[in-house]
Amino acid sequence: MSRFWSGFVNELDPYVPGEQPKLANLTKLNTNENPYGPSPKVIEAIRMAASDRLRLYPDPTSAELRQAIADFYRIDAAWVFVGNGSDEVLGHVFNAFFRQEAPILFPDISYSFYPVYCQLYQISYDTVPLSHDFSINVDDYDRINGGIIFPNPNAPTGCLLALSEIERLLQNNTESVVVIDEAYIDFGGESAVSLVKDYPNLLIVQTMSKSRSLAGMRVGYAIGQADLIEGLIRVKDSFNSYPVDSLASAAGVAAMNDKAYFNETCQAVIDERNKVVAGLEELGFDVLPSAANFVFASHKQVDAVEIAAGLRKEGIIVRHFTKPRINQFLRISIGTAGENQQLLSVLDTLV
Ligand SMILES: *Cc1c(COP(=O)(O)O)cnc(C)c1O
Repeated sequence: MSRFWSGFVNELDPYVPGEQPKLANLTKLNTNENPYGPSPKVIEAIRMAASDRLRLYPDPTSAELRQAIADFYRIDAAWVFVGNGSDEVLGHVFNAFFRQEAPILFPDISYSFYPVYCQLYQISYDTVPLSHDFSINVDDYDRINGGIIFPNPNAPTGCLLALSEIERLLQNNTESVVVIDEAYIDFGGESAVSLVKDYPNLLIVQTMSKSRSLAGMRVGYAIGQADLIEGLIRVKDSFNSYPVDSLASAAGVAAMNDKAYFNETCQAVIDERNKVVAGLEELGFDVLPSAANFVFASHKQVDAVEIAAGLRKEGIIVRHFTKPRINQFLRISIGTAGENQQLLSVLDTLV
């Protein structure tokens, strides 16, 4: 509380990100960072960009980066919007498209930043319960709304919704913007970018933080038809003309271009995930089917908070959410082979 704040700031309930501990030797399985570093070509591109040219402002249109993303998906660069991490892109999305009469819709268990944007931009929303198996049933979204958003795969469940179901949702919902937050799509799902040409109200949001291992650079983007992208650019240019700095842009271009490294590291995460799932099941955990770089697991007997505390004592941090339906689950990011081994051996002593 401060008498100097604009009134609404007192009412805000900001997003709480996963802990970034100062201690060096912790095994961080709590924020879904990629266990493998960025491509060596990305590091080289950043080195090259770290020059006297940093005295100049970056390109306010981020033309090169948008083109690299467009080339990867074989679409027009006019269909690509970029920002300082996908959280910023999502902020602009809520501001640009979701300030409507009708409430927007998202699942009751979903990315916990969505209600925070709603509060910031005074957007009303209704949450739609996930099915008993934690899947999204698109028929539940068949009602008047000011927009629809959910992650696919969903967070923190990791569950994937089939592309055919997304298309069915779009066929049933043509009057408001549908946003698919594909932060984790590269770990086993199929992107809905292929549907953009047929659905002018579809917007895909992706990030370089997870599958391209660039959480520290802050690069996110959205893909949609030019009309939606233009709306985002209008909001962005009313907020910050240069959200993507020169180093982030160079890194992002190199990351999109190095497809071999991208494919190899995504596959390594998937292979490791399969091992972690098998190991957890052997220890008595129920694990939701994951298409992400994390798993969502609950133990049949032992309390989740107790397990998280036990792991922490041994230097491993995972994420726990104190929400009624999921308070017996832990969200565990997939680490390196060594980290995953360590996780399973410590868990073996706790459950
Ligand atoms: C990690 C994540 C983001 C944010 O990504 P940044 O680009 O790092 O801001 C957005 N949505 C979901 C569902 C995420 O898990």
